[in-house]
Amino acid sequence: MKVTDSVQYIKGVGPKKKAELNRLGIVTVYDLLTYFPRTYEDQSVLTRISDLRVGEQQTISGIITKLQERQGGRRGMTILTALISDGSGFLQVTWFNQNYLKKQLQVGRRIFVTGRASYAFGGRGQFAMSQLSSFQILTEEEDAAAQCGIQPVYPATERLNQKFFRKLLKEALAADVELPEVLPAAVCRQYHLMARREALATIHFPKDFTALKAARRRLAFEELYLIQCGLMLLKQKLQQSAKGIRHGADGVLLQRVEKSLPFALTHDQDGAWQDIRQDMERDLPMRRLVQGDVGSGKTVIAMLALVKTVENGCQGAMMAPTEILAEQHYESFCRQLQPFGIRISFLSGRLTKKQREAVYQEILRHETDIVIGTHALIQEEVHFHRLGLVVTDEQHRFGVAQRTALEKKGDCVPDVLVMTATPIPRTMTLTVYGDLDVSLIRELPPGRKPIRTFVRRPDRRPLIYRYVHSQLEEGRQAYVVCPLIEMDEESKLPSAEEIYDELRYGIFQDMPCGLVHGRMRPADKEAVMEAFYQGDIKLLVSTTVIEVGVNVPNASIMVVEHADRFGLSQLHQLRGRIGRGSYASYCILVSEGKTQQARERLNIMEKTADGFQLAEEDLRLRGPGQFFGSMQHGLPDLKIANVLKDSDILIEARKAALESLRRQEDLAFVLPILELQYQEQFRHITES
Ligand code: ADP
Ligand code: MG
Repeated sequence: MKVTDSVQYIKGVGPKKKAELNRLGIVTVYDLLTYFPRTYEDQSVLTRISDLRVGEQQTISGIITKLQERQGGRRGMTILTALISDGSGFLQVTWFNQNYLKKQLQVGRRIFVTGRASYAFGGRGQFAMSQLSSFQILTEEEDAAAQCGIQPVYPATERLNQKFFRKLLKEALAADVELPEVLPAAVCRQYHLMARREALATIHFPKDFTALKAARRRLAFEELYLIQCGLMLLKQKLQQSAKGIRHGADGVLLQRVEKSLPFALTHDQDGAWQDIRQDMERDLPMRRLVQGDVGSGKTVIAMLALVKTVENGCQGAMMAPTEILAEQHYESFCRQLQPFGIRISFLSGRLTKKQREAVYQEILRHETDIVIGTHALIQEEVHFHRLGLVVTDEQHRFGVAQRTALEKKGDCVPDVLVMTATPIPRTMTLTVYGDLDVSLIRELPPGRKPIRTFVRRPDRRPLIYRYVHSQLEEGRQAYVVCPLIEMDEESKLPSAEEIYDELRYGIFQDMPCGLVHGRMRPADKEAVMEAFYQGDIKLLVSTTVIEVGVNVPNASIMVVEHADRFGLSQLHQLRGRIGRGSYASYCILVSEGKTQQARERLNIMEKTADGFQLAEEDLRLRGPGQFFGSMQHGLPDLKIANVLKDSDILIEARKAALESLRRQEDLAFVLPILELQYQEQFRHITES
């Protein structure tokens, strides 16, 4: 049997079960084998009956030695009583009105019982249990298997229970499935990895915790190694498939532009810029990620790189995730670069067909130097003449696939620069951006007034908003961020719409207010954002749609309602919308702070402005699922490895992948496996 065969070939899977399994994403035998236990029941931590402590929840295992059935009570209940022995003592267990158990309860069978013990009449070591919290009566076969003690617990459903999965996985592991070793022998040896077949068998039915740990390590290693190899292969392929553009040393144009900047680059900005220049001047295509906190000044770095490519006779493209961001970049680039005769075009879905076609022509005929736009840049009709550099801003909004689509737009392999403000802990960067080199910008430009952050309870809202009003009177603008768009009966939280109405008909009735949320038509959304940007709207109520990169220096105050609903990284991104001008800026987080943990979490926001620290804190408190979720990343969900807890395995796996690549081992095997495992997410690698 092959791993790609349908799960239906496994004994016990008929059409009905197959449909149920498919619903869980289990289609092939491989999917089933990698349907890893959620956790394990450790029946090896059993209490001996004689050691039972009255009143405490404990689990025992024993053999049924005696059974009794009688009618009792006024309504003639059936009362089943079993006497269980484990050699140390006797436990009497009673069930009321559970006739269906009669068949399963047989003298001689092993039973596991969890519940609270009480004293029974009789001698020492005799206890009783009713009101069991769980019990499991084993068949003979199961008894043999259960001797190992540790039982897998699967993410089960109503129709597919634990028992079904345990049985099914036993069948699958017993079936003759081809499970070749995928890791190179040298890697297995060097990193002391358990063999693949053994690891898969052990992860489902471990004989003890040492074996389980080794199996888990092996499978996590495999997963991370394969992803690392995949990402490195992707990088190699792109770098080898054609020669990159070798940019010349900086010329006069670049020097003049640099001199015209209204500020000197910070140390970190300069570092990133040096990295980029070196990359661009090499034969190999650049693939670099610039990671810098909000407001750290990534745009100017991108601009310099684009000027460098223009000076080398190439075109450059920059893709932003939203219309408004693209427009902002377009405006600032025009302001800075047009005086030097650099031609800049704008491309977005909002242009009319005719306008768009005109831009396509400009691009094709090389009548423009830099094109700034949204997803519209990756439309089929866009053909660059000599594309030298591709910049994507706020990368996490794009999938890897979209990024690569833009890279393929030219007739040669362009240099690639990716910019993200999402502070990603280091080990995670390796998983998510394994195909990119990284430059960090950690410091903010000098002279920034730090944003002062306060956590306040909802009863202070009138005061808070009076203060906001006074700031608007002084000419500033303000954001109010809410987690929900519409009323939600269940959570009882006021929505953005309600808060908007409360404010604009209340204390802000003399101020122009606006509302923007994710469910609005893009054009309407953009119109409101534009009005805020222009200063026509003073108070903007919004959901998190404003999270990304918008620059309104006059906005100096932000109120976040129900702040506890957001992750720290997200709050930090939101907060980055203010403090962009020369005004003192305030961020007020409104929260009930019901639990100690919720309060502590938000208090971190008051104390630190370091996005990296907040991201790690977030990751620690909320786990990677949430973290990745909020990032809308384009990379695979890991099946077994945990980016947070397995960072040591990740580092080893990455090292092994690098070594494999350096030794020029044949890694052709990697891609089919990645595709099998992650399907969609890696298809673009195999296709390219
Ligand atoms: P982000 O990294 O969030 O994209 P931006 O590139 O939008 O940040 O920069 C934020 C602001 O900082 C802009 O107004 C920009 O002009 C300014 N800025 C960038 N670099 C410097 C610097 N070295 N000194 C002073 N101001 C700077
Ligand atoms: Mg930016």
